Amino acid sequence: MRDYSIIALLLTLLAQKPYDPMLTDELFDEYDFIVVGAGTAGAVVASRLSEISEVTVLLLEAGGTDLGNHLVKYPNGYVKVQRTSVNWNYDIVDQKHSFLQMKKPKYPQGKILGGTSSINGMVYLRGSPHDYDSWQDHGAKGWSWKDVEVFFKKVENAFGDKVSDSLGRGGMLNISHGYRSPMFNELIKAGKEIGKFFSKSQSTYIHTVEHIVERCKKILHILKIPQLHYNYMKNCIKEVDYFKETEGISRLVCTYYEGIRQTSSDSFLRPVYEERKDRLHIVTNARVGKVLFDTDENGKVTANGVTYIKNGEEKIVKARKEVILSAGVMETPHILMLSGIGPRNHLKDMMIDVVVDAPGVGSNMEDHLSNAAYFKLKSPQYYGQNKNSMEEYILNGTGALTTVAGIDGVLHYRTKYFGTNVSLSTRKRPFPTIEALFAPAPFTIPFSTQEKPAFHSSVILYLQHPKSRGTVRLNSTNPFDQPIIDPNFLSNPDDVKMHIEGFRQLEKFEMTKTMKETGFRMVVPDVCNGQMNKYPPRSDEFYECYMKSFSHGIHACCTAKMGDRNNEMAVVDERLRVRGVHGLRIADASVMPHITSSNTQAPCYMIGQRASDMIKEDWRLI
Ligand SMILES: Cc1cc2nc3c(=O)[nH]c(=O)nc-3n(C[C@H](O)[C@H](O)[C@H](O)COP(=O)(O)OP(=O)(O)OC[C@H]3O[C@@H](n4cnc5c(N)ncnc54)[C@H](O)[C@@H]3O)c2cc1C
Repeated sequence: MRDYSIIALLLTLLAQKPYDPMLTDELFDEYDFIVVGAGTAGAVVASRLSEISEVTVLLLEAGGTDLGNHLVKYPNGYVKVQRTSVNWNYDIVDQKHSFLQMKKPKYPQGKILGGTSSINGMVYLRGSPHDYDSWQDHGAKGWSWKDVEVFFKKVENAFGDKVSDSLGRGGMLNISHGYRSPMFNELIKAGKEIGKFFSKSQSTYIHTVEHIVERCKKILHILKIPQLHYNYMKNCIKEVDYFKETEGISRLVCTYYEGIRQTSSDSFLRPVYEERKDRLHIVTNARVGKVLFDTDENGKVTANGVTYIKNGEEKIVKARKEVILSAGVMETPHILMLSGIGPRNHLKDMMIDVVVDAPGVGSNMEDHLSNAAYFKLKSPQYYGQNKNSMEEYILNGTGALTTVAGIDGVLHYRTKYFGTNVSLSTRKRPFPTIEALFAPAPFTIPFSTQEKPAFHSSVILYLQHPKSRGTVRLNSTNPFDQPIIDPNFLSNPDDVKMHIEGFRQLEKFEMTKTMKETGFRMVVPDVCNGQMNKYPPRSDEFYECYMKSFSHGIHACCTAKMGDRNNEMAVVDERLRVRGVHGLRIADASVMPHITSSNTQAPCYMIGQRASDMIKEDWRLI
């Protein structure tokens, strides 16, 4: 018999909510910098600015402490943590093109130290270099891949021999490969098979995937034709180092280390707060209401502080140099509008005095349209939250439970629409447009189905560059009333066409001998039964029904986007300064000019790092 008393003691200790020594009660009346939101980007900004011993920094966070929250630290606590008070759990408006067959879910965002980095799936992907070059094309001067790569590296501290040597070592955010499931090996085998299967029918002398890759590289090199490149590559699903080559299948790098989630709070605040207590003040449960401005005799408007509510009491704190909004994609536009910066007519309707007419505030919301597809399996050999895995996790910090539901592999590719009007991926900027995250784990299937598989795996499909755009608008002038959020999923019909191609790629996997042997076959919801074919190829109508029933998103961005002065929808300039006022910047997901071809936390870390360097430069602090 094993002695479980140590494990029991550990769990009891983890369940305690201790006093958090990082937090401050006694505040100054004035700080050099006030950062609003201790989330993914905000924690980086506050940490980096407080490196300068001459400046004072106040970090205000609406959520509570993360200390002692074991669901946050435990990677497999992902699903449970979503249902707790550390999630903003926004209502979204009724969607015209999605959730037609099911109750719409809430929209999650982190409300805790670490923000969404404390509740997310921990996948760490930078996106494609073409994403950032396209930001530059859209007026974000100085944000091309060549410019931003160094800021990713400054953030990253990659562990492990097998982790890409393109990742940074020596930054503050620990990242590593996690568990590698047997399923991942099957996927690699299946990917190679897909190459062989298609090449056999196309040519007698191209018979291995390596052969095709070599051929397409040579042809691409000689002719420089991306469409041709795509035509070959679509059939070769090869294993790649994602940080060198963004199309193919790769093993995930995640924000966990030795089995523990690494949040922006753990990485950027906890290691430094003790030695900076005199100049970095962190306050939780402090909800910022609005930014305050001062207008001089020449009409120059400068942000000089914020109001915030703590313990039911409204307070004012002043900023000598700048206010930096890092409150996330929903709350940054919310605060801006409450402060008088937003679309003029909307502010007038809400009886708010207009400080700056900024039509881009709360507009342009982009999100990776996502669908989970479920596949039955013959046996549960790939995963299990059982006594053995629990024991392995608790005693060694290894195994399947170091991940969210065993997710370990990711596939990126363009679709057949590449280079056409349907896709935003162009010959000049050929970024991947579909991402598939493979989880060998039994997520709960959220719909009814006649087939009740005993074991199944899940694939989360993301449309990386949708054309649909959503909005955030005020519901009232009370900061505690959540804004009106309309992601407007699937409102552009091209998104439907593109996403169907994502499912088609999964069909290729289903058709391989390797995956058939595992019993890998899509589980079909009853609501779409009328149009379904049990085996691939299934009809476009079936997939359209599937996505219109269940499409969602969790990577919203761009609600205060960056751009040049010719773009009236641009809210911030290329140094993240809010146009029309002084002393106010934004650093979070809302400033992205467009969404990236990957999950969005890595770009947010990069934005936080880049913002802090810019602020230091502009105030001659470096
Ligand atoms: C469920 C889920 C899973 C995800 N999984 C992944 C993943 O696996 N990989 C990935 O790359 N991306 C993932 N993402 C997306 C990614 O985590 C986010 O895009 C990113 O973390 C956003 O960072 P941010 O700095 O913009 O905002 P946040 O990290 O959300 O920070 C905003 C902070 O501001 C605080 N705040 C808001 N309003 C106020 C106010 N009025 N006063 C004071 N404080 C305020 C918030 O409480 C929060 O702490 C996921 C997102 C969700 C919701």
